Amino acid sequence: QKHLDAARLLELDRAHVWHPYGPMPGTVQPLVVESAAGVRLRLAEPVGGHRELVDGMSSWWAAVHGYRHPVLDAAVRTQLDSMSHVMFGGLTHRPAVELAVKLVELTPEPLQHVFLADSGSVAVEVALKMCLQYWRSLGRPEKHRVLTWRGGYHGDTFHPMSVCDPEGGMHHLWGGVLPRQLFADEPPAGYDAPADPAYLAHLAELIGRHAGELAAVIVEPVVQGAGGMRFHSPAYLRALRELCDAHDVLLVFDEIATGFGRSGELFAADHAGVSPDVMCLGKALTGGYLTLAATLCTGRVAEGISRGEVPVLAHGPTFMGNPLAAAVANASIDLLLSQDWRGEVRRIESALRTALAPCAGRPGVADVRVLGAIGVVQLDAPVDMAAATRAAAEQGVWLRPFRDLIYTMPPFVTADADVAAIGRAIAAAAAAST
Ligand code: PLP
Repeated sequence: QKHLDAARLLELDRAHVWHPYGPMPGTVQPLVVESAAGVRLRLAEPVGGHRELVDGMSSWWAAVHGYRHPVLDAAVRTQLDSMSHVMFGGLTHRPAVELAVKLVELTPEPLQHVFLADSGSVAVEVALKMCLQYWRSLGRPEKHRVLTWRGGYHGDTFHPMSVCDPEGGMHHLWGGVLPRQLFADEPPAGYDAPADPAYLAHLAELIGRHAGELAAVIVEPVVQGAGGMRFHSPAYLRALRELCDAHDVLLVFDEIATGFGRSGELFAADHAGVSPDVMCLGKALTGGYLTLAATLCTGRVAEGISRGEVPVLAHGPTFMGNPLAAAVANASIDLLLSQDWRGEVRRIESALRTALAPCAGRPGVADVRVLGAIGVVQLDAPVDMAAATRAAAEQGVWLRPFRDLIYTMPPFVTADADVAAIGRAIAAAAAAST
């Protein structure tokens, strides 16, 4: 089985391998990727004459520098020469400490302490655990619920699932098992839309009424990702900060998708000039090279936890602080900051506006929106996922549409001509779906 041909590989994949949100045995045939370099995925078999596809997805927000970047390749190799992994209980190492210090320096000032988890979902688990443990440690266990706004996505493990969109997800499967959380309406759409006083009053009423049982509010700041690819005014983040302060509730920003420049600011919180009590990072943290996520918290949260009957944060995964992942995260962040990343994201934003403009007003297209290096075409009916993906691949572009959304968040190194190709592929995917 050393050199499986593509057909046999797909047969075995279908029989044995789960894919995200996939059935078993598999029904949708995935494309076999042989390698990836720059912004291109190289396929085992061509699609529509294309052996290489421009990756319009950055491997789900992660590969901001593209693939096989020499600096990141070198960082992994160099780290491999000293150690690939050691347990983090009772031991520490340079890559993890350097990364923690870097994250504390880059994120809003009160965030001081870093938990290095191994995936975004775990980073959210840890964030919510921190908040609940904080209130328990202060003798207030009744503050155990979490408020979020509808339409969000925070991961697939149980606590994160409990704060995902209660309608759009698969919540009905888990009735009675998920923690019962509180849901505010979703904020009015539009990054530039003025703050809606009625919506602000709705948030204030809910948080005020439930403050006694609320441990935290968690939101995806400015960009609501997998829950609907919507953009919101930063004004709502400022309002949440004020309400959380007024009612003694912790504020958590899930920046797993937005972190590291994607929305046009280094962190989406920077659009609002607001600091959360807890922040989650992941995805682009390692430039998409390895699995790593981080949960940062303020001194107040850490001190609260340390005053409890159990004065330690009750979490410690085997692969916590993995040195290979931490080393490539350090290299990825340094690489990002050594460049005019803001200029590059602006360039992509403007190229996306041009590339997606022809989609606006097409039959079946409900909305076209762009923010930072994120472009979204929303249809007025669900996409035919297989047909849309294939139509994009036949244009030489990898896209992964879902629900009524055809969207892209390309690597920051994507050339204007490739962004234009992504625009054509999105139009083709929309046409194939309507
Ligand atoms: N939070 C947000 C905002 C996300 O977009 C995601 C992943 O899509 C997650 C959490 C979960 O991260 P992971 O898939 O690494 O578990």
